Amino acid sequence: MAARRRADERVFTAGSLYRGAVATLREAGVENAALDARVLLARALGVEGGELIAISEKAVPDDARLRFRKALKRRVNGEPVARILGTKEFWSREFLLSPATLVPRPETETLVEAALEAKPNKGAPLRILDLGTGSGILLAALLLEYPKAFGVGAERDVEAARTARSNLAVLGIAHRARIVCGDWASAIGMQFDIVVSNPPYIPSGDIAGLAREVREHDPPRALDGGADGLESYRAIVAELSRLLTPDGVAILELGAGQEPAVANLARHAQLNVNGPARCDLSGHPRALVLAKSS
Ligand code: GLN
Repeated sequence: MAARRRADERVFTAGSLYRGAVATLREAGVENAALDARVLLARALGVEGGELIAISEKAVPDDARLRFRKALKRRVNGEPVARILGTKEFWSREFLLSPATLVPRPETETLVEAALEAKPNKGAPLRILDLGTGSGILLAALLLEYPKAFGVGAERDVEAARTARSNLAVLGIAHRARIVCGDWASAIGMQFDIVVSNPPYIPSGDIAGLAREVREHDPPRALDGGADGLESYRAIVAELSRLLTPDGVAILELGAGQEPAVANLARHAQLNVNGPARCDLSGHPRALVLAKSS
């Protein structure tokens, strides 16, 4: 009886919950157990990750403990931390996610870098188009870098379009952007100085072999690039000549090994390839820059 009472009255501190969670996640085979436990615990407690140390001896209220337990269970079941939080950082800003949008990947930042290199005048009143904008990360990052620019995000999924609009509003740049629903650029009749896209590019047959976090939690239509993975590029390069201003550039994200094939498609569509592709931090060719041929 005495032992049971002690168990019931056990005080859970932030530190003890953290240690328990790391052990649970490790046991479940989660790779970054310590980091994930820290991020999820901080969110459940409503503090920043860096503040956990200072409160590690403090008792955690029951509601926060239950929130943490639920989050931990989802992580053990293979859900990525970003999905559990509903947010993910990109280009140093926090973006809302929805089930209709990809979790932003750090390698996609390579496209922003390539844009800044191709169009270094940040004060220019550029027009920017993001094809398949999803949660709006590329459009938003570029509008933040070019404070006089105006942007259009094209998105075929209505729910993703809503998420993009929310993100633009949260970041205070909604007045410089429009999200239009449609298939690629079919609804768009203007020309742009920068066109970016991170299209679905995984060959359909490879999707089953992706990591569980991706396969089960990223929306298939944001991943699936058709039988050879190149379907979206075909659709996009066919439109670029009409969408680019005379000195406009298009910057496309590439999947593994796709640089030669995408460059070829672009050349066949009478575009110049300003190659080689810019590499991401892992050294993979990631951002291919195309221009209109003069
Ligand atoms: N980069 C994502 C992945 O490797 C795929 C996103 C895409 O198809 N554009 O999982």
